[in-house]
Amino acid sequence: MRQRKPLVVANWKMNGNSELVQQMSEALSVLKQPLPDILICPPVIFLADFPKHPNYKLGAQNLSEQLVGAFTGEISADMLCASGASSVIVGHSERRALYGEQDSVISQKVKVAIEAGLTPILCVGETLAQREEEKTLQVLARQLDAVYAAQPHLLAHSVVSYEPVWAIGTGRTATPEQAQQVHQFMRQHLAQYDAEAANELRIIYGGSVTAANCEALFAEADIDGALIGGASLKVADFSAICTMAKDS
Ligand code: PEP
Repeated sequence: MRQRKPLVVANWKMNGNSELVQQMSEALSVLKQPLPDILICPPVIFLADFPKHPNYKLGAQNLSEQLVGAFTGEISADMLCASGASSVIVGHSERRALYGEQDSVISQKVKVAIEAGLTPILCVGETLAQREEEKTLQVLARQLDAVYAAQPHLLAHSVVSYEPVWAIGTGRTATPEQAQQVHQFMRQHLAQYDAEAANELRIIYGGSVTAANCEALFAEADIDGALIGGASLKVADFSAICTMAKDS
């Protein structure tokens, strides 16, 4: 039996509306236990619209690395908690690439999130060019070390999501074997900081996961769930993925 409870995360990005909130919450509410942990990360404006239900929790897609003050447009960790979020995605490749988020800022965001009581879902992943240059493991080690080398105590309170940039929104998913190899590497790499926490760490996979390909991914020993973009906007598909994760 798997020792880590599977986690399925929906990243709606800048999509969705009140109708989708209603349809998704209704569909998830009727799923029968046992279920994986299910986390919905809609745009923050919709957090308050989700009815509370034991079948799912809510999260955000980003947070400020600052605590309070003159930071126009930013949202603090405390504000996310007050809005009903229990977790927050940190370091998504779109934020790294489009908003210039560097490892140092991402590291600070992970720290601030945990100190406020949020679970950070730290996204790491290589670009296609880095994979082709056989730098995948080196890039991932750098992204992980940037967060945990100076603050290893944060590992026990985190989730890590492996998201190869070339697989996000492209329809080109990593094979289960490719993903498993990376997850296993990351778990072993992180064990240098805290062996027990690395063993208990949930490492989920993200990148073009669908109801059709998730089962093979979930069957791998070190894949503890998925972070889902496009398919999380389709109620039937997302519900099906959650149902399959509980059986893994
Ligand atoms: C993502 O948003 O992190 C993601 C994995 O998206 P998609 O499932 O659409 O590839």
